[in-house]
Amino acid sequence: MARGVGPRQPARSGRQEGVRTTVKSAGFLAKGGRPKAVVPTRFSPTPAGRKARQRYDPLAPERIQEILKRLDQLYPNATCALHHKSAWELVVATILSAQSTDVNVNRVTPELFRKYPTVEAFAAITPEQLQPDIYSTGFFRNKAKSVVGAAKKVVSDFGGQVPNDMDKLLTLPGVARKTANVVLGTWFGKAEGVVVDTHVTRIARRLELTKNSDAAKIEQDLMQAIPRDKWILFSHQIIWHGRKLCIARRPKCADCPLENLCHAADKTWTTVELHKNAKL
Ligand code: SF4
Repeated sequence: MARGVGPRQPARSGRQEGVRTTVKSAGFLAKGGRPKAVVPTRFSPTPAGRKARQRYDPLAPERIQEILKRLDQLYPNATCALHHKSAWELVVATILSAQSTDVNVNRVTPELFRKYPTVEAFAAITPEQLQPDIYSTGFFRNKAKSVVGAAKKVVSDFGGQVPNDMDKLLTLPGVARKTANVVLGTWFGKAEGVVVDTHVTRIARRLELTKNSDAAKIEQDLMQAIPRDKWILFSHQIIWHGRKLCIARRPKCADCPLENLCHAADKTWTTVELHKNAKL
């Protein structure tokens, strides 16, 4: 792609607030192949527009329904990308995925689960023994401690079976609400909460589904905003959206089906007014 001919983006001048950016979709190269300047035009709402702005509620049920509908169309079969064949394998994979990528974890786990095929096998080793096997996922000392500690607890307190209960899962070393929600939703099909990872945090804020930055508070906000029967699928869909389109830097807004519902301040392309607080 020629330099400067990337997805269009609002001016960097900070004038986005209260500004509608208008760019002709075709012919955005000036003579000589230079990109034409993006021309922001002052957004001056009519009285009706001003009223609509005052009435705007990012959590309005019809807006939420529309977001969910478009996510269903975009990611109808979204599910957890971590490879696993049991609840225990999913616990391990989710612990390993912290500060790492699912692709990275999926590279490590096949050999790991061949070497230690059961929760009892993990419970019988020391964290130091496990460290070399999970080294490439990062933070390997802490993760080894968590995995071995969780295995010992599952064996000693739960008869070798991963519990399908939030409170019990939270007693396992290294398991916080995110991991517990992944295991409960993906393996047991139980909607006890919403998975909040880095993708969900970013997109929930961009879509104004929360104003919070703390994972526990974001989860509470999403549990209020999203119908419970959608909690599991919504988490997976948003995580996929965060990987494919709504990436942290330079989100692909021109390709995003949620574009006209999204007022994120850091959009790279917009047909709607931007809201300065709608960002990470
Ligand atoms: S329009 Fe852009 S910022 Fe908004 S959800 Fe889509 S990709 Fe993310």
